[in-house]
Amino acid sequence: RAKKAGRGLHCFYESSMEAELRTRQKLEMELWDALARQEFQVVYQPQFDLGSRKLIGVEALLRWPHPERGMVPPNEFIPIAEEVGMMEALGEWVLYEACREAARWPQPIKLSVNVSPVQFTRGNFVASVTKVLADTGLRADRLMLELTESLFVQECGAVRSAIDELKSSGIGFALDDFGTGYSALSYLRKFPIDAIKIDRSFVLGVPDDVEAMAIVQAIVALGRSLGIRLIAEGLETPDQIRVLQELGCQEGQGYGLGRPQPAQLIMELLN
Ligand code: C2E
Ligand code: MG
Ligand code: MG
Ligand code: MG
Repeated sequence: RAKKAGRGLHCFYESSMEAELRTRQKLEMELWDALARQEFQVVYQPQFDLGSRKLIGVEALLRWPHPERGMVPPNEFIPIAEEVGMMEALGEWVLYEACREAARWPQPIKLSVNVSPVQFTRGNFVASVTKVLADTGLRADRLMLELTESLFVQECGAVRSAIDELKSSGIGFALDDFGTGYSALSYLRKFPIDAIKIDRSFVLGVPDDVEAMAIVQAIVALGRSLGIRLIAEGLETPDQIRVLQELGCQEGQGYGLGRPQPAQLIMELLN
């Protein structure tokens, strides 16, 4: 009996794995199709100076409107795109699309674009960014690239020289989701980081959670003493906006200040 039940379980396990594999393969194929047909979209979340409340930039965020699943969140499809070797092409598409839009805006606000570590480590990222700027006419000093801590884990010489080269052309760098990764602080000195983005998970606890407050204060102190700008993510409430500003964080973004929106609406906002 035990053997029989065991076999039954085994069969069930196998078929659910097969189903999962099929779903995954379908998703991979649909991702390639979406790229070929240019079905991805880019939305832009406003970033504000917390002191003056002026719009100073936007962050480009990738969207995939799927015919059956609706909007698939980037956290679901980006890891797959990275795994199947599609992220270089997709990352280049986002960069091109966002730079092309930003170059048309009537005010020279900054454009931040998220970069996946695989874009740095495979292919020629520097050449690709240089070409996008040349083709779209966006000035290099309007572009900020958002990097994640995972990029700095394997002390890679190629990453270092790519960052230095882009930096010397005028491009800025922000460290995304700060405090959630490996946080080996030493790379804040080694790499030319212009801004630190305080992760939403910490901002969420402001002002009531004592530990979140302590972490946010420490990050702000670190940034200020190193001369690195601070950008708070995920500001939702008036309290969070006020307290972050009082703590010395210069910039912020979040649903409480502005949702990610199509390029056209950013254009209208600036006009
Ligand atoms: P991220 O770069 O940290 O982007 C911030 C995320 O927080 C965005 O989610 C944004 O919509 C969301 N957000 C902003 N304000 C608030 C708020 O007040 N409350 C809440 N609950 N959420 C807020 P999204 O667009 O789903 O993107 C998730 C992540 O996917 C991004 O995190 C980024 O790591 C990645 N991603 C998005 N677009 C790209 C891209 O073009 N390239 C790469 N490599 N990664 C991307
Ligand atoms: Mg980001
Ligand atoms: Mg972030
Ligand atoms: Mg985040």
